[in-house]
Amino acid sequence: MARVYNFSAGPAVLPEEVLLEAQRELLDYHGCGMSVNEMSHRSKTFDNIIQTAEQDIRDLYNIPDNYKVLFLQGGAYQQFAAIPMNLMKNKKAGYIVTGQWAKKAYQEAKIYGESVKLASSEDKTFTYIPDCSNLPITDDMDYVYICKNNTIYGTHFSKLPNTKGKDLVADVSSCFLSEPEDISKYGIIYGGVQKNVGPAGLVISIIREDLIRDDVMPFTPTMLKFKTQADKGSLFNTPNCWSIYMCGLVFKWLKANGGLKEMQARNQEKAKILYDYLDNSKLFRPTVTNVEDRSLMNVPFVTDSEELNAKFVKEAAENGLVSLKGHRTVGGMRASIYNAMPKEGVEKLVQFMDKFEKEN
Ligand SMILES: *Cc1c(COP(=O)(O)O)cnc(C)c1O
Repeated sequence: MARVYNFSAGPAVLPEEVLLEAQRELLDYHGCGMSVNEMSHRSKTFDNIIQTAEQDIRDLYNIPDNYKVLFLQGGAYQQFAAIPMNLMKNKKAGYIVTGQWAKKAYQEAKIYGESVKLASSEDKTFTYIPDCSNLPITDDMDYVYICKNNTIYGTHFSKLPNTKGKDLVADVSSCFLSEPEDISKYGIIYGGVQKNVGPAGLVISIIREDLIRDDVMPFTPTMLKFKTQADKGSLFNTPNCWSIYMCGLVFKWLKANGGLKEMQARNQEKAKILYDYLDNSKLFRPTVTNVEDRSLMNVPFVTDSEELNAKFVKEAAENGLVSLKGHRTVGGMRASIYNAMPKEGVEKLVQFMDKFEKEN
């Protein structure tokens, strides 16, 4: 069996050790004679799985006690609606629009209240993070929203915006557990796990307790009230048991590999290999030129020729370097180099790019 180097933006590469462990446990989880896929979410065994997963993510992110960790479904996209429904008291919030996902969240919030575009980088195809030191935030805004790592465009907030005292809500789907976070700087920090953590179908939302309220918008579906899930320990209804289990294995893997400081160091090292090459290449160039705005997770790059882009993606795949085609709105290529991408994968990619450059 030949495993490829998978540069997909998501669902994406998972640690091989984790996949092998899941394989070993697939038919008989810890001697209980059944698979995690077959057991009741109300069983003692599953309770232990979800409790352990929660404790491990609390340890990894050093989550303060006044924050709840919720394991939710519906994708990050559903949170675009759940967040305004739960948080908009004044029916007004500020959005920093740095990419497609932030824009979609901004647009979704319009259904529920006034969503104000505080800043945007759309004028240059979202290739930079705008200055967020003095945004037009008004007193009546319920929160300020960002997408911390812009999966499609390869930008990342290296510094959080000045929210002028308003609660910060952040979508960290594509940089989840890739770097340490000071959770106390956020009201809500959440992400779909399928980019950097686990299998698709699970969103983990870390929410400060005072934002979990009864007085949500009156039409809020029971399932979308944060309080519903918080009161029931994410077991109000049947959760995505398999993804919670897999994420739990990934949390153990992260702990065994030195935690988030070490992950950040590894991610910086991997990204540097790729950006250094791109900055010196005569054929390829990175689309994000502001060094401090560059994502460590998603690296878009292009040549000046559509034909060469297509040829590169095709030949790379023939050499075991797959899913390098860029998002349709950017074109070119994108290498997603999440936690589970080994350094050798990035080195192989750069070697191949160098060879391709010489041949073309
Ligand atoms: C992929 C992605 C989403 C969408 O996630 P779904 O789980 O498919 O809804 C939202 N935000 C970011 C930053 C993403 O990368």
